[in-house]
Amino acid sequence: MPLIVQKFGGTSVATPEKILAAARKAIRAQQEGNQVVVVVSAMGHNTDHLIDLAKEVNEEPSAREMDMLLSTGEQVSVALVAMAVQRFGHKAVSLTGAQMGIRTDNSFTKARIKTISTDRIRKLLDDGNIVIAAGFQGIDDDYNITTLGRGGSDTTAVSLAAVLKADACEIYTDVDGVYTTDPRLLPEARQMGQISYDEMLELASLGAGVMHNRSIEFAKKFNVPIRVRSSFSDAPGSMIVAEPESSSVPVCGAALTKDEARITIQGVPDQPGTSFEIFKRLADRKITVDMIVQNIGQESLADISFTVPNDELKEALRAVNEAAKLVGASGVTHDDSVAKISVVGIGMSKQTGVAQRMFEALAEAGINIQMITTSEIKISVLVKRAEAQAALRAVHSAFSLHSKPDDAKVWEMGQKQQSELSASEIVERLRNSNMEQLTLLDISLVGDQARVTLLGVPDTPGLAETVFKEVAKAGVFVDMIVQSCDGFQGETSISFTVPEEQMDHCLQVLKAMDYKFRKIGGSKDIAKLSVSGIGLRSHTSVAIAMFKALADANINVLMINTSELRVNVVIAGKDGEKGLACLQKTFESSLV
Ligand code: ADP
Ligand code: ASP
Ligand code: MG
Repeated sequence: MPLIVQKFGGTSVATPEKILAAARKAIRAQQEGNQVVVVVSAMGHNTDHLIDLAKEVNEEPSAREMDMLLSTGEQVSVALVAMAVQRFGHKAVSLTGAQMGIRTDNSFTKARIKTISTDRIRKLLDDGNIVIAAGFQGIDDDYNITTLGRGGSDTTAVSLAAVLKADACEIYTDVDGVYTTDPRLLPEARQMGQISYDEMLELASLGAGVMHNRSIEFAKKFNVPIRVRSSFSDAPGSMIVAEPESSSVPVCGAALTKDEARITIQGVPDQPGTSFEIFKRLADRKITVDMIVQNIGQESLADISFTVPNDELKEALRAVNEAAKLVGASGVTHDDSVAKISVVGIGMSKQTGVAQRMFEALAEAGINIQMITTSEIKISVLVKRAEAQAALRAVHSAFSLHSKPDDAKVWEMGQKQQSELSASEIVERLRNSNMEQLTLLDISLVGDQARVTLLGVPDTPGLAETVFKEVAKAGVFVDMIVQSCDGFQGETSISFTVPEEQMDHCLQVLKAMDYKFRKIGGSKDIAKLSVSGIGLRSHTSVAIAMFKALADANINVLMINTSELRVNVVIAGKDGEKGLACLQKTFESSLV
């Protein structure tokens, strides 16, 4: 018999009426001949209320007790949904995470799923029950209740769909599907018919709260097609599926992370191992770091900037101050009033001028870019929080995301999507071991790139646009771009990589520009090492392990960029082979 997993988010079970409506949807699916597992979130804003309540009792509640408290939200709603199903004369049994055998690690408030035992759920389903499963929670090896992180019910749903080999996984929520950006922020956002795992994963981890990013890691690893749809209508929604055929649209969506904070460590000795000392301390605290930018050192001193979620700033500063002292940095600054705007698209890796188009849109809107990082499928910029909405709108419009792309790929609905990975192989490896374990697919070395660095770039709107417009006009293909902030006396620096054979031409173009930079430099003596896999940004350990392996081999990291798909580091060309060998050794056991 086909099996379907349906997940209802907080707003979809916010009132008794909505609970009854959700129960009806589950019953209908059962009557259509499916076995049905329903995953439920806490009612309405119950999780927020519980967090507020905790803070009234203790400003810094312990993570273990938070999980004990927050898990009650889902326990309330599963019981009520089961009662609702029973009221209509159907059989239902509610289960907590522990009762379902969802085993996690012990990182309270952001636990990762290790294993799920399906026996009990299967038996209940075979007995004709609709199984109502509590989202967001699990249990560690010592029987402590854990939670998976905010929005984690999506991850419960997709992971259950994976282990139960469900035929469908439906995420019922308060919007009609996945949009080009949050429709509550930009009413002109357009609903997408389909989106690839890679794009959804990137968008989710860059702020598109419609799906928990880790749920998409699961979906990609286990090849679970997901349908996101409205609880309040029968509209078909949006499908999240394996990679489509190549699309000529460079950008499919834009996302905003409003509550970001920037930290800069100044005057860091430019030596192997310093980044490791810093980021290790953040990873130990499971703080997600993004937009890591290292200034090219002035007098052997570098500035390292990066962003963290605002609510983790305090903790991050504690870690960073400790590390700064240890490595002999001259100071630490931070800014808690910034926001991150990103555009995402698998098409952008095949086109030039995408970054420039984004910078142009921001320049036209008079918005200053404080930091830039790019990767093969996303570009992120940091702006003042007060300008975030305007920035999002400018960028959304620059890529015409509000209008349907004329070459919109008609991906056949229901067509079997071929993942680039051998899904069944991975499934077998992970099913009984550690489901959210790091999965790496490749480690590679690219030697034919060159680095271009501009020092003395004024920190004003429009400069990045001017630079990349000139470079694009000259036909130079720009890959990694990083722009730091808080640089030398109100200036910033921009570094990017270009094909080796285009470097000289690119330098000429820059030297011929009206604006005179303090220094224009380039080096062909670089190598790019890439580690690719699934969910690499949420597995902060990858960048850390890379830093450590390279530091141990006495190799200095010059540039870094990260995406969900890949972590790239640029090192000196002479170190390329040695660096590759040490990364291969470090990640041997995680490669599939
Ligand atoms: P649920 O409680 O059902 O899990 P969430 O609030 O977690 O619901 O997620 C749905 C919300 O995600 C929407 O109300 C919308 O405001 C927001 N959202 C953010 N980005 C997007 C996007 N790209 N597409 C659709 N919704 C988005
Ligand atoms: N109730 C949890 C939260 O609000 C989990 C979820 O809704 O997905 O974050
Ligand atoms: Mg959600």
